[in-house]
Amino acid sequence: MSDAVQPNPVPFPQEGKPKDAILRAMADARDRDVRWREGKAFSMVYFAGDEILDLLKAAYTMFISENGLNPTAFPSLRKFETEVVGMTASLLGGDAAVCGNMTAGGTDSILAAVKTARDWARARNPRNTAPEMVLPITAHPAFDKAAHYFGVKVVHTPVRADSRADAAAVAAAVTERTILIVGSAPSYPHGVVDPIPDLAQVALERDLLCHVDACVGGFVLPFARKLGYPVPPFDFTVPGVTSMSADLHKYGYAAKGASVILYRNAELRRHQFFVATGWPGGIYASPALAGTRPGGAIAAAWAVMNFLGEAGYMAITDTMMRTAAKLRDGINAIPGIAVLSNPDMCVMAIGSDKLDVYEVADELQVRGWHLDRQQFPPSLHLTVTYAHAATADAFLADLAAAVSQVRRPNLRRWASHAGTAAVGSITRILPERWVSRLTSLAGPLAGKGGGLPGRSAPMYGMMAALPNRGDVDQIVLDVLDGLTKAG
Ligand SMILES: *Cc1c(COP(=O)(O)O)cnc(C)c1O
Repeated sequence: MSDAVQPNPVPFPQEGKPKDAILRAMADARDRDVRWREGKAFSMVYFAGDEILDLLKAAYTMFISENGLNPTAFPSLRKFETEVVGMTASLLGGDAAVCGNMTAGGTDSILAAVKTARDWARARNPRNTAPEMVLPITAHPAFDKAAHYFGVKVVHTPVRADSRADAAAVAAAVTERTILIVGSAPSYPHGVVDPIPDLAQVALERDLLCHVDACVGGFVLPFARKLGYPVPPFDFTVPGVTSMSADLHKYGYAAKGASVILYRNAELRRHQFFVATGWPGGIYASPALAGTRPGGAIAAAWAVMNFLGEAGYMAITDTMMRTAAKLRDGINAIPGIAVLSNPDMCVMAIGSDKLDVYEVADELQVRGWHLDRQQFPPSLHLTVTYAHAATADAFLADLAAAVSQVRRPNLRRWASHAGTAAVGSITRILPERWVSRLTSLAGPLAGKGGGLPGRSAPMYGMMAALPNRGDVDQIVLDVLDGLTKAG
């Protein structure tokens, strides 16, 4: 760092600007965003049509100023939240004792569950000062984040060949320090439901807690089962399941900022709460992580659940499951690529043992499609939503074209592979310089300052070539730093 003080590149605006100009600037800013409305993005946005979107906007704006922090001040929000939680508990096999709260999202729900587990275990066994939780490697990183925040050690376990958690490996990883076992319904990377009864059985036998992460599946699996799809047991009807998370802002089709955390009973949930009674500002009580909570997100979730009802969600789920089946069959019919494992719902991954799927993703990106890249093994992720019913055929056509493009010999590919090998050998000699060098390479590839990445396969190739995974963490931190910097 230099000693001279540099002014921040983003000055505080001196004069206010007209509303029209602001809205125009915002519309322009969104120009290069992923085209979710056209069904070209397979992650991040769950869109089920303008009728629902309009309802969400109306409900959200009606309660845009209200604050869920103090339920006594807003009985309206208290009613909405209580009913949203109750409806979700009913959907997920919860009896009258099951209770919970709305949170800001899946991560927030998982943070709450891990904090609750830690404090529950601490109260029962204060001598366990080094709590651990057992996580199949496919569990969402929100658990690793929670572990990091709350001082719980993560013990990762391998998954079976079908990408589902290996209950025997989980059982073998339990020690006297273990407090929590985690399963996913389904896992985000591959859309497969872990063997929840087996995992919950391990928890029951060792007197541990068992969290089922139904963030992405909670508002699909129950409806898919009613439609006749073979959905394995995953909810509170399974003995030993003690908490569940389910995201309204995903397949609940609610506005962003809405998830539900549920517990087997109120005694367990008490460990989630926080109170401060010595504050000059008064008695402060807060159910979960957030203080102020957006009334709009709570209201919009209540609105869409009541608008759709079971019948509405069933109709949407029917469309999504049919679309997922069409995509799965279409993908498996393209030589060189295949859907990994046998997904239990409308989330899946495309893998290949012949092609570089990251290059396929780049070719798709050029054609306007956005798919997330995954690793171990390399694969491309598809979150199939209602919006994809209209675009599945076009996607399959472009996917076939992208695959045949990647199969052709290609100079750029050769160059990037040669680059990977060269940089890989530098790494062994100069690991530190390598990090900054790769960061400067990764920056433009990740689209720093230039909107969406164009082609990121070379970057993924270089990341994979790094001998030390710790270096990858540093690079990603540098990129993250760069992404939130102006200029
Ligand atoms: C999305 C997701 C999460 C995290 O939810 P956010 O709302 O992104 O915080 C956790 N687990 C699974 C399985 C998910 O799909």
